[in-house]
Parts: sequence; structure tokens; C-alpha cells
Amino acid sequence: MEIEKHQHHQLHVFFLPLMAQGHIIPAIDMAKLFASRGHRSTIIITPHFLPFLSKSINQNTDSATQIDILTIKIPTYEVSLPEETESIHMATTTEMLSKFFQALPMLGPQIEELIKRHRPDGLIADMFFPWATDVAVKFGIPRFMFHGTCYFSLCASVCMIRYEPHKKVSSEYETFIIPNFPDKIEFTASKVADFYKEDVEPQYLKLFKDMHEDEMRCNGVLVNSFYELEPAYADHYTNVLGIKSWHIGPLFLNSKGMNLEEKRGMECSIDKQVWLKWLDSKRPNSVIYVCFGSMIKFEDKQLMEIAMALEGSGQEFIWVVRKEKQEEWLPEGFEERMEGKGLIIRGWAPQVLILDHEAVGGFVTHCGWNSILEGVCAGLPMVAWPVSGEQFYNEKLVTQILGIGIGVGVNKWSRNEGDFVKSEKLENALRRVMKGEEAEEMRSKAKGFAQMAKRAIEEGGSSYMDLEAFFQELRLVRL
Ligand code: UDP
Repeated sequence: MEIEKHQHHQLHVFFLPLMAQGHIIPAIDMAKLFASRGHRSTIIITPHFLPFLSKSINQNTDSATQIDILTIKIPTYEVSLPEETESIHMATTTEMLSKFFQALPMLGPQIEELIKRHRPDGLIADMFFPWATDVAVKFGIPRFMFHGTCYFSLCASVCMIRYEPHKKVSSEYETFIIPNFPDKIEFTASKVADFYKEDVEPQYLKLFKDMHEDEMRCNGVLVNSFYELEPAYADHYTNVLGIKSWHIGPLFLNSKGMNLEEKRGMECSIDKQVWLKWLDSKRPNSVIYVCFGSMIKFEDKQLMEIAMALEGSGQEFIWVVRKEKQEEWLPEGFEERMEGKGLIIRGWAPQVLILDHEAVGGFVTHCGWNSILEGVCAGLPMVAWPVSGEQFYNEKLVTQILGIGIGVGVNKWSRNEGDFVKSEKLENALRRVMKGEEAEEMRSKAKGFAQMAKRAIEEGGSSYMDLEAFFQELRLVRL
């Protein structure tokens, strides 16, 4: 009776994302999704993101009524950071980044104040705030962790932390099998993020250990993935590794049909008429899209190798580069020769819309989880080129478990650059994902996953139902 009475009770949830674009985008998607199911969402963020957030939220007037924004201030003064450092991207040096992370736990009192004032039913905080569980406990509300990555990578991270296989090998490049894992996956210490290694700044090692402890003790984890994509890993995470979770993705799919780039609040560096007309003139599956996410900036010599591979492969392409001028990093006469064959976007591209165009038949990606989900949902085979962190796990998922991608043989984790990849390697991978039997097989598998993803978020689908289960859990905890 008591449960029934509360079955339709509107819930109010606080979202606390890390102050970075890649974390805020899925938080907004979640907030909108919760609002579309009749609940109230409040996003807590630094003032820097306000214009972006307001623009994005106003896109959907129905749910906008249910979404509030509250601001907090990074205690920059206490850690001697410039006052305007309100996002992780503004911490441009290693020293600034370290201070930024030192400042995060100092946000606790501000969050407490907001909880006291607004009395939400639950707090969904990023993994980078392991102290959030203590804050929530103080007020008797549940704390959930949001993970913007896949189950495969979550399982791999937990196994690295628990069993430390990377410390039992004699060299960086000696292979080991990830222990207590559903499949036999070979890995090397060179691909393990520095955060897990003893020689890293003790602050980061502690943060990562705290994050993993918190993963175990919080009320559960929300994952931006869908069950059908990686069932063995979704089950393993909960049943074997013992971490309660709900799969509620792909989150971005819920917003499809809206003006997605507007929704994301980002200014694109290319006019819609230009890229759309260009793609409309191409045959289905004839263009490869090349983009390395929102942060990676390759050195000129690496860009040169990419250009040579694109030209050498004879492949039509759209290439997104975070550079203003072309002079030093393109082979001489490249743009003239590629006229009509390739389109370079300098800055920010409307990625989801481009991937969805029927002329696009493949994706070269740095294996950021959002990009991979977007590639999967567009039914595209991928060239997997990981650069840092969990991207190396994601690469394994794409190439070995899902069988929808080809790696370029990168062997080393690096905060900025990754391994240098020669043009021949990329050229070979481009050919393999775009043409021939192998490419068709991967494309057909990817399209299968794309359909599963769409079904997962529809009423009655696996992600839809798991979100219902999450709401139910929240109601029970709050009874
Ligand atoms: N993105 C985009 N245009 C760009 C570059 C990136 O729309 O020019 C979006 C992309 O669609 C994805 C996000 O930015 O949603 C990048 O997230 P991901 O997890 O792939 O990588 P990160 O940038 O966090 O490394």
C-alpha cells in the first residue's frame, strides 16, 4: 500500500557533473530524460556554463519547466588559482589542473547548503566527487554515481585497481590478461592510465582509489550504455564485481529530433548548408568522418601523417581539426588536390548529425565513450585510435568484443599526445573499415547494434525499464 501510494510521487534529483563539456552534456541529457518522465531535475554547475546550459535547456520547453539550474563557485582563492578558473579546460597547466582537483572537495559545504535549502530526493554526482556520498548521508538522501563510460571499461578499471596486474609484469610492453574478466583480453602496462601507477602525484592516486571505494559504497551507479551492447559486462559488473548499477543509455538518443547542436549549446565552425550540401552530393557509405573528440590536439607531424593517409587511401573524408591555420601541418597543395574529395572542419563539428548522414560510412575515433556510442548508434564501423585513459579499454570493446572496428596499433597512454601513428598504418585501417567484405560485415554488425540501441530507449526497452527500476529504487529509499 505504502509503495503504491508513492508510485507516482514526483522525485526531485540533484545532478552534479564535473565542470567539463564531456561530463555536462550527458548530465543535461539525463536531467531532460528525468524531466520527460515527470520528475524534477536540478543541475548544479559553475557560472561559466550558464549560457550554454540555459540555451540547451530552453530547447525543450516541455521539460524546461522541470529543470532548474543552481550555481556553485570553485574555491579558487583557497588553492591559488585565477578566479575565472571555472572549468577543467581552463586549468591549462599540470600545476593548475592539480590545484583544480584539490579545490573540488572544498565544494562540499556549498552542496550541503543547497541540499538543506532544496531538499532533493537524491544526488547524482560525478565519479570525481567521492566525498559526495558523505554529504548525502548527512542529509539522509541517497547518492548515485554517474559514469559516462561503458561497462566493459568500468569492469576493466575495477580489475586493475583490485588485482594490479600491471605491477606484476617486467616491462611496460609485456602483455598480461585482464584478471577476473569475462573474456580473455590482453593488455599492457603502457596502456594503463598514469593515475593507477605509484609514480603519479599521490593526490591523483588517492583520488582514484577514493573514487573506486565510493563506487562500492554509494547507492549505485548509472551507466550511459545499453544492455544488449555488452550484456556479459553489465552482468559481471553487478553480479561478480558486486556494484549495483542501472544502464540508462544511450542518453543522447533521447534528444534526437531536436536541434542537437543547439541542444548542446555549441557553436559549430561550419555552416549547416555547407556540410549538408557537401554530404548530399556523395554516395551512401562513401565518406569517412575523422574526429578526435573535444580535447585532443595532435602535433603537426601527426596531422601530416593523417593527411597523407587520407590522400593515399583515396578515401573521401570529413576531417575535424582543432587548428586555425593549415600551412605547417598539411602536405603542400593538399587542400587543392582534395577539393571536392575532402572537407576539413577547423574547430567544432556537428558530429552526431554528420555521423547520421547516409553518405558517412566509417568513423576514425579516439574512442571517447560518447563518440563510440554515437558511432554505434549511426551503425558505423570504426578505426579505433585511443590516446588516453579508458579509451584503451573502449578500443578493446570495439575491436575485440563488438567486432565493429580496426585498431591502429597505439601502444602507449599519454595525457596529451598518445603514440605516433604512421600514415601507412592508418591508410590500411581506412581501407579495411570502408571497403570489402570485412567492412561490410562490420557495418552490418554495427547497424544491428544501432537498432538495438533505438529499441533500448523506447517504452518497454531495456534502458527505459532500467530507468524505471532506478526511479522505483529511489522511491523505496525515500519511503
Ligand atoms: N563533439 C562534437 N564536435 C566536435 C568534437 C566533439 O560534437 O567537433 C562531441 C562528440 O559528438 C561527443 C563529445 O563531443 O559527444 C566528445 O565526447 P567523447 O566522450 O567522445 O570524447 P572527449 O571529448 O570527452 O575526449
